[in-house]
Amino acid sequence: MTELPARRLLLVHAHPDDESINNGATMARYAAEGAHVTLVTCTLGERGEVIPPELRHLTGPALGTHRRGELGAALAALGVTDGRLLGGAGRYGDSGMTGTADNDDPGCFWQADVDEAAGHLAEVILEIRPQVLVTYDDNGGYGHPDHVQAHRVAMRAVDLAAERGHRIAKVYWNRVPRSVAEAAFARLQGELDTLPFDKSATVDDVPGVVDDERITTAVDGGAHAAAKAAAMRAHATQIEVDGPYFALSNALAQPLFTTEYYELVRGTAEPGETDLFAGVGEAS
Ligand SMILES: [Zn+2]
Repeated sequence: MTELPARRLLLVHAHPDDESINNGATMARYAAEGAHVTLVTCTLGERGEVIPPELRHLTGPALGTHRRGELGAALAALGVTDGRLLGGAGRYGDSGMTGTADNDDPGCFWQADVDEAAGHLAEVILEIRPQVLVTYDDNGGYGHPDHVQAHRVAMRAVDLAAERGHRIAKVYWNRVPRSVAEAAFARLQGELDTLPFDKSATVDDVPGVVDDERITTAVDGGAHAAAKAAAMRAHATQIEVDGPYFALSNALAQPLFTTEYYELVRGTAEPGETDLFAGVGEAS
């Protein structure tokens, strides 16, 4: 195997589209800077609701296959070449929204054994030896079972990999500072009548919003805003993008953030950190 670049970033997400919404600018930036960026997606999102009427016939495995294609196009837009599916394609099914009968499907990710799923991820960690891992908080950002499970699996895999010889220097959770979200929604309210979306979401609809004090790191991806928007557009079954705004299948407008925010939960953050790799030795 050829030697990987010195800086290596691993992101763990629940469904195709989560990577672009949460971390698209970060991924594009680090890929452009020559870091090795690896995305592990835990499910194919085959229970997602489809926005374009002409694609609504896609459900179940057919939707999963389609969304895998969307994910490939999104990664191409971000300049990321290492996208993987946890345990291989189709290993874990989409668990559906919280409280639905889909959550009980024995093949769904929510029903997966955390240690077994984390074992698959630990293999990736031991192969790539990333210094930085990004995932969701313990509520999965907003409570979706696949996001909660992605969090559990990622955090468990960090420990498993450490026991087996690779300690990840820094682990981050995706965040949005409350003040940033509030300011962005105030702007959005003023522009709503110019947008194709009828209504605005609210700050409470944005995953990972916390008080500003908890933010350790802000990654300015402004130079990669176009790549992030292109990646989000690639997920056409799930996302509609209009300028600096987007909507999911609920058609509620939200701001598209090109500075992406993080809370460091393992390792040491530098004060006012703007680089996920700050303080990381390249040999680690
Ligand atoms: Zn998701």
